[in-house]
Amino acid sequence: MIKKIADLILNLPTVAFTGAGISTESGIPDFRSENGIYSKYGKEVFDINYFYNNPKKFYEFAKEAFLPMYNASPNSAHRLLAMLEEKGYLLGVITQNIDNLHFKAGSKYVAELHGNATKFYCTKCKKRYSIKKVLESHYCSCGSLIRPDIVFFGENLPDEDWEMSLNFIEKAEVMIVIGSSLVVYPAAYLPILFKRKSGKLVIINKTITALDDIADIKVNSSATEFAENLLNYLKEKGVF
Ligand code: NAD
Ligand code: ZN
Repeated sequence: MIKKIADLILNLPTVAFTGAGISTESGIPDFRSENGIYSKYGKEVFDINYFYNNPKKFYEFAKEAFLPMYNASPNSAHRLLAMLEEKGYLLGVITQNIDNLHFKAGSKYVAELHGNATKFYCTKCKKRYSIKKVLESHYCSCGSLIRPDIVFFGENLPDEDWEMSLNFIEKAEVMIVIGSSLVVYPAAYLPILFKRKSGKLVIINKTITALDDIADIKVNSSATEFAENLLNYLKEKGVF
């Protein structure tokens, strides 16, 4: 299986598509885990109206959910994607994650479909703020509310990142999906679109996903276990 996937990556233009599952081994829980912070605050915490109506409550949530993301380190799966990009074997990464770990790992071409929870800006004058500053005061020097640079429910995906994703899909002949349940739309529309142009779809996940049926290869494994196996194989082949 690893050999087959390695051959695809080494011979055809490839893009990665990642979800919360690539970061669980960096200590960031995914949405669907029980007793997670999300179950404590409810899904409405990601609603844009909730944010404007309860900024104080939202920032309590942000302290618990976003600060660990800010402090987390990338794992071997994030790092392998960055290494493949550097060597010219990966066009880039399309991610649903907001944890900044692909950039931290060294990836340069990352489409962040849902924004970035380590970045903040003023809703009025757009001045940028660090997470440390915003947790001290949620208001800008101009007096307006500071918001995270994430996509809330009720907001559109960022045009630039969506365009970048479509561009990757146009060029790619292989897509490696790592750690996504593939149930969140419109993001999950991208692997479907990719399959429509007869691309080779490879899915890596600990459990079943919504698109296993249309995958060419499905690997039931954790993100880092997969990455380490692939890295070892590529080292044997002298790629790294
Ligand atoms: P999801 O929570 O719906 O699914 C995560 C998937 O990863 C599941 O299918 C699970 O089986 C799999 N998984 C968990 N740990 C894994 C591991 N170690 N190895 C391999 N697979 C593993 O996540 P999603 O598909 O990204 O969609 C949910 C939304 O959650 C996204 O919009 C995303 O923005 C948001 N989110 C992001 C983060 C983050 O940035 N790290 C964390 C939580 C939620
Ligand atoms: Zn301002």
